[in-house]
Amino acid sequence: MLHKVLIANRGEIAVRIIRACKDLGIGTVAVYSEPDREAMHARLADDSICIGPASSALSYLNIPAIMTAAGLTDCDAIHPGYGFLAENAGFAEIVIESGYTWVGPSPESMRIMGDKVSAKQRMKQASVPLVPGSDGAVADAEEARRVAHLAGFPIIIKASAGGGGRGMKVVHSEPRLASAFSMCQSEAKAAFGDDTVYVEKFLEEPRHVEVQVLGDSHGNVVHLYERECSIQRNNQKVLEEAPSPFVSEETRQKICAAGVAAAKSVNYVGAGTVEFLMNPDQSFYFIEMNTRIQVEHPVSEWITGIDLIEWQLRVADGEPLAFNQSQIKRKGHAIECRINAEHPFKFTPSPGKVELYHAPGGRSVRVDSALYTGYTIPPYYDSMVAKIITHARSRKKCIRRMQRAIDELAVLGVTTNQELHKRLLANPDFQRGDFNIHFLESWLKQLPR
Ligand code: ADP
Repeated sequence: MLHKVLIANRGEIAVRIIRACKDLGIGTVAVYSEPDREAMHARLADDSICIGPASSALSYLNIPAIMTAAGLTDCDAIHPGYGFLAENAGFAEIVIESGYTWVGPSPESMRIMGDKVSAKQRMKQASVPLVPGSDGAVADAEEARRVAHLAGFPIIIKASAGGGGRGMKVVHSEPRLASAFSMCQSEAKAAFGDDTVYVEKFLEEPRHVEVQVLGDSHGNVVHLYERECSIQRNNQKVLEEAPSPFVSEETRQKICAAGVAAAKSVNYVGAGTVEFLMNPDQSFYFIEMNTRIQVEHPVSEWITGIDLIEWQLRVADGEPLAFNQSQIKRKGHAIECRINAEHPFKFTPSPGKVELYHAPGGRSVRVDSALYTGYTIPPYYDSMVAKIITHARSRKKCIRRMQRAIDELAVLGVTTNQELHKRLLANPDFQRGDFNIHFLESWLKQLPR
């Protein structure tokens, strides 16, 4: 068993990982930036070490400082959480070469999936369905035009090295293609240092459905079913649930099998997510794989009873999975609401001192947060400060339970998006499960302010 884990992250995910380590009897080391001195993760860990000033580049992304902290505290493993260095294959390599256990997949799996063109090529070999398009890199506008005519307009030009919803251009008709192509290329070069782009058919009303996978170092890969993540704004998820209210049992089996095939094709070890876009007719296509734990992992944990962070730690340590696919049963429905310190409808950030924090509780309510009364939310990092997760036998009951939990939440002193969740949960289309990835943004436009 691992002895002591350094958590190279902050906020709720660092707290989540510290808690999992404590449950397993593993020691913990937190790293923090100067303004995070009083942060919950720094307070809860057995040891905590300052790794730099506010700027992430000089602290949470500061590899030499993190490695020094690991050395000083006698750790044997590093967990990267999500964001920051979690998908940095170079960092994973340094961790491994320095003799630590990397709580994540191999740098090679990360590299293949981190580059969208190489990921698509691997998926093609594994017979995972791809959005019709170029599959490989597209060299120039002329080639893009040929692909567009085969796939049909509208198309989307995407940067191979892109991420976080950046580096994409939608083109509705041929006259705009050449200029969009060169713009996408030069933006990709500037943002990611790589101007490789490819072309896909642009799906007009897709859902975002993703499959949670878990692999060990003995060649076993299982799935923990799908998550519905279509409630998004600016490509940022706002509310997630499992299972998807839209997916039929037949499609569920197919998409989950595709997720497992995708993971197996890169010898995946650890927790990962295979993302798909799904058309109204339930045809689905691979878009990318995230080679890390995700924000929305608790909904999958709740419907399956499997602790994903625990299993990340166990498989990183070489343990085989203790269950096979047929032993993973799905039970009930789970929803997660992301609580952000921001204006609920203008989306302007609202950092500052939390004068009072009261978390919801009661039956089947889970809160993952790093908030406490008196904490000052710094302005430098992500605005997500809490996740509320509820579970119930049915989706309808789960929504009602979430409404109750959101009502109980009190965060005074700063503004949160609590009111957005209240209105969303009461929306009849949401309640019917009738939405796609454009739903939230178009609903927000119609809302009376
Ligand atoms: P990133 O790595 O930047 O998140 P993705 O490839 O996952 O990039 O795409 C992000 C989002 O962009 C998707 O969730 C979807 O909303 C939209 N998108 C990407 N590809 C397509 C497509 N072919 N058709 C329609 N929407 C797309």
